[in-house]
Amino acid sequence: VIRWAAGDLQLTLLDAGRLRLDGGAMFGVVPKPLWSRERTPDERNRIELAMNVLLVDDGRTKTLIDTGAGSGWGEKERDIFALENKTAEQLLAPAGLRPEQIDRVVNTHLHFDHAGGNTEPQADGSRVAAFPRAEYFAQRSELEIARVQNERIRASYLPPLYEPLVEADRLRLLDGVAEIGPVRVEPAPGHTPGMQIVLIEGGGETVAFMADLVPTASHLRFPYIMGYDLEPLVTLESKKRILPRAVSEGWQLIFEHDAETPMARVTSEHGRITAQALNPQEA
Ligand SMILES: [Zn+2]
Repeated sequence: VIRWAAGDLQLTLLDAGRLRLDGGAMFGVVPKPLWSRERTPDERNRIELAMNVLLVDDGRTKTLIDTGAGSGWGEKERDIFALENKTAEQLLAPAGLRPEQIDRVVNTHLHFDHAGGNTEPQADGSRVAAFPRAEYFAQRSELEIARVQNERIRASYLPPLYEPLVEADRLRLLDGVAEIGPVRVEPAPGHTPGMQIVLIEGGGETVAFMADLVPTASHLRFPYIMGYDLEPLVTLESKKRILPRAVSEGWQLIFEHDAETPMARVTSEHGRITAQALNPQEA
């Protein structure tokens, strides 16, 4: 785990496990000779990705941002995505915490590699909240698109990861910008219509959890937009709106899927935004 402070807030970056996704899908229209210089694909053309999730402790409450892929995956998914099963208990153990200590879970969106750890299987196969005391939060528009379940999107949206929370009245639906305990969410649509980023302010610093708006440091360039994105031109607008703020306000960015550069500040030269990796010890 990586720990640092932002004013009175204690932040902990937790490792929710690794997964591998197709390199071409991760970089959209960018040709392989370009993206493969930065991310070397394996023999199945997949690139290794992290699932970095963030715990925000304000001294009274603990808020978890995203939950990784979680547990309960069968052999087929574990093979295709090189997934490991990781329970909430296993996720939190390195931070010395237990699932019942989490007060809130904020989902940036409801894709399986971000919300998979929301629920966990019981002996009968049904899934229940993995964090038994937590209230969960997502944008209303995100639940709406997840429930469309059409052929293009249903491989990423798995109802057992969120419907049990709706049934148990545990999922709070947001409409745009919202303050949730010590964090603020802001819509960043494009990857999905209901995706949000999460901003944490403390000690004069802004920490921004970028979710799949900028999944790795290699996605800072504007045209580096994932093939998975449902509305890539909307992603482009979101990047052009949000990244200049990250530069001018000196945000600490967290890249959820970057195993090598989980945190960075960004600068802009001649319109090109580049990352300066943050060593969490100095962050
Ligand atoms: Zn996603």
